[in-house]
Amino acid sequence: MPWSQYQFGHTLRVLREIVACLCVLFLCLGGRPFLHAADEPLVRVTYQSPGQPTSPDTPPLHEEKAVEGRIRVQAVDGGLLVEDRQGGLWPITAGQSPVTETIAPQYTPLSAEELNAALKAELGEGFEVFPTTHYLVCTNAGRGYGEWCGRLFERLHAGFQRFWKRRIPNLEVPAQPLVAIAFATQKEFQAFQLADAGGQVGAAQGYFSARTNRMVLFNQSGEAGPGRALTAAQIQKQALRNPMAIATVIHEAVHQLSFNMGLQTRYADNPAWFSEGLAMYFETPDLEAQSGWRTIGKLNTSRLGQYRKLASVRPLEIRSLIATDDRFRDPASAVDAYAEAWALHYYLLETQKEKYDNYLKNLGKKQPLQWNTPDQRVADFEAAFGATSDVELALTKYMARRSP
Ligand SMILES: [Zn+2]
Repeated sequence: MPWSQYQFGHTLRVLREIVACLCVLFLCLGGRPFLHAADEPLVRVTYQSPGQPTSPDTPPLHEEKAVEGRIRVQAVDGGLLVEDRQGGLWPITAGQSPVTETIAPQYTPLSAEELNAALKAELGEGFEVFPTTHYLVCTNAGRGYGEWCGRLFERLHAGFQRFWKRRIPNLEVPAQPLVAIAFATQKEFQAFQLADAGGQVGAAQGYFSARTNRMVLFNQSGEAGPGRALTAAQIQKQALRNPMAIATVIHEAVHQLSFNMGLQTRYADNPAWFSEGLAMYFETPDLEAQSGWRTIGKLNTSRLGQYRKLASVRPLEIRSLIATDDRFRDPASAVDAYAEAWALHYYLLETQKEKYDNYLKNLGKKQPLQWNTPDQRVADFEAAFGATSDVELALTKYMARRSP
């Protein structure tokens, strides 16, 4: 969806139904966990933005706004995609009359300290930032929750990197700490979501915003309330009683890692079957592990159950799943789309490794704001994996043999 927010989120209904559900690079970089951008100037782009209408009869006056960062895309018509120093993306159309001036010879993302200060200033009183090696967890849900999230993120980060470095040799290093904003209550989360995401993700349990590059969550691991007095160990105990809480955190964190380690590109054409299938592959809670999450690629029994339910009533529809994201956006078809995407992704990742890795490498090369047609998406898929009808057949047989 060009020039607009693009987000991954999950409706409460979908989640309830379908979720019963390191650092080698660090050492190679001489102790720097973050890689700075190549030589690109820091620019200030001023542009016209529609202001608030003064009355229903008068068109809104335009006001001048500005953003500082680096140019990611310069469209032939004069439109721009600018990345600010926090990693946020700003699509500016030619109609907004952007004017660019260079203000420093080199763009640098905000340092961990600068980002920490910017988050505190943005979110205000009541929020604390808990830094870990690769993350900044900004929360008003208390130290225990912040620390619990941070540990889970780091565990995922290490596992994710270990998993992919064998298969994708040039994993990128994020340019700055990855940001998570975690609210104490769902009400606060929803108010933030409305302003941040324009209400697009509905009754979400969490989301990753490709626009801001942040994941946004709330404490769903325990009783209502900020839980300030709880320690990370107590939060952990609660989370183990609610595996959905762990699955949501991991799911959104996988989206964020995928877009920050070069597997996928923000604002590029990323088919939902792939993005969601990838996140679901990793999300499976492991209640035997102390943290509630350990094993990558463990058979996701709740997703398998959903898939079996679907497969018992109709044949798979891989082509429509791949061609567009419509089935994921429509609440009436989303549950089935997620189940099919999980099964397809699991099958390809487990049995078609070489083909999968080639498909993934091509996906990672896709450029921002270049959108594929449905036919192109199907052609890309079939070039990698063969005819969709053959994949459907093989997938059906493979899944029939899986047992939890
Ligand atoms: Zn997702």
